[in-house]
Amino acid sequence: MKRILITGGAGFIGSFLGERLLSEGNDVLCLDNYFTGSKKNIAHMLSNPYFEAVRHDVTMPFFAEVDEIYNLACPASPIHYQYNPIKTVKTSVMGAINMLGLAKRVKARILQASTSEVYGDPKVHPQTEDYWGNVNPIGLRACYDEGKRAAETLFVNYHRQNHVKIKIARIFNTYGPRMMPNDGRVISNFIVQALKNEPITIYGDGSQTRSFQYISDLVEGLIRLMNTGDNFTGPVNIGNPGEFTIRELAEKVLMLIPESRSEVIYKSLPEDDPMQRQPDITLAQKELKWSPVIPLDEGLRHTIDYFRKIIKP
Ligand code: NAD
Ligand code: UDP
Repeated sequence: MKRILITGGAGFIGSFLGERLLSEGNDVLCLDNYFTGSKKNIAHMLSNPYFEAVRHDVTMPFFAEVDEIYNLACPASPIHYQYNPIKTVKTSVMGAINMLGLAKRVKARILQASTSEVYGDPKVHPQTEDYWGNVNPIGLRACYDEGKRAAETLFVNYHRQNHVKIKIARIFNTYGPRMMPNDGRVISNFIVQALKNEPITIYGDGSQTRSFQYISDLVEGLIRLMNTGDNFTGPVNIGNPGEFTIRELAEKVLMLIPESRSEVIYKSLPEDDPMQRQPDITLAQKELKWSPVIPLDEGLRHTIDYFRKIIKP
């Protein structure tokens, strides 16, 4: 049995990761300040004596004897990370310092939930890990993008200087049940709008692309990465290479919710919205022996089933 700390453990990804690690017989400690996470996401695990939840903000130091740390704490949707941008930078940077300090002290392995946002609006397509990215350091998305880039810098330096066992996952857009209905991300927005017969809001002309990965594929990839040998640190892309325009996504959602009476409307494109995004996953295939297995249509069906239970038309 491993003692595993998950920061951001009550969030969308953290709660699925905790569930999986618990089911494999580990002792899971979830830290969260509940900014975008929810006790509802973890309520079903609280009766398990090997699951523990602590209200804690990662900008403050924390101490516990653990074997592994998954550092996920950080709001992930643009409306939430832009709500208090200074706090977002603090969460990424001070959170990384505090968790790396803990990893160093207790000799734990530590995995960072980094992001495809480190590539910004990429000029290289698909994105490989050796691409340095194209990020506006003073734009509205910078609090998130640059916070995550600084966190990667901290991770590699704790590794070089202090030999901390690090792993960096660059996660591409991930979706599934337990996304918050109002978190503003495109998949949850489109599904909720279609179920409520409200207009589907495409930003810009909808020709921008994203590559969407289902939550169970990501969880598998993260665990495989944590379990690679000490010499493999990443960064490694974890995403589904299936690339779709936002217009195609809107069409798919409407096809899968045939009773919807929603029309499609166009709104202005947010500042610095990346035009294209697709992971090159050659490195993950080689080092993690991992590829995503859930196609977009199937993942959307599971996600729609979830939202049907919580959204009233
Ligand atoms: P989420 O918002 O559901 O989860 C983040 C969790 O962190 C929430 O439970 C939130 O309350 C908690 N949190 C935020 N600030 C905190 C702080 N200062 N102290 C303690 N807890 C804090 O988002 P998610 O989609 O589950 O994302 C999890 C991680 O994965 C994030 O680091 C995010 O940047 C990264 N990521 C997600 C995606 C994606 O598509 N979902 C893509 C790339 C990277
Ligand atoms: N988007 C959209 N309508 C929405 C929400 C988002 O057209 O209601 C677009 C957004 O402009 C972006 C893409 O969908 O081009 C993905 O947005 P999301 O916020 O989900 O993720 P990110 O931009 O961080 O990849």
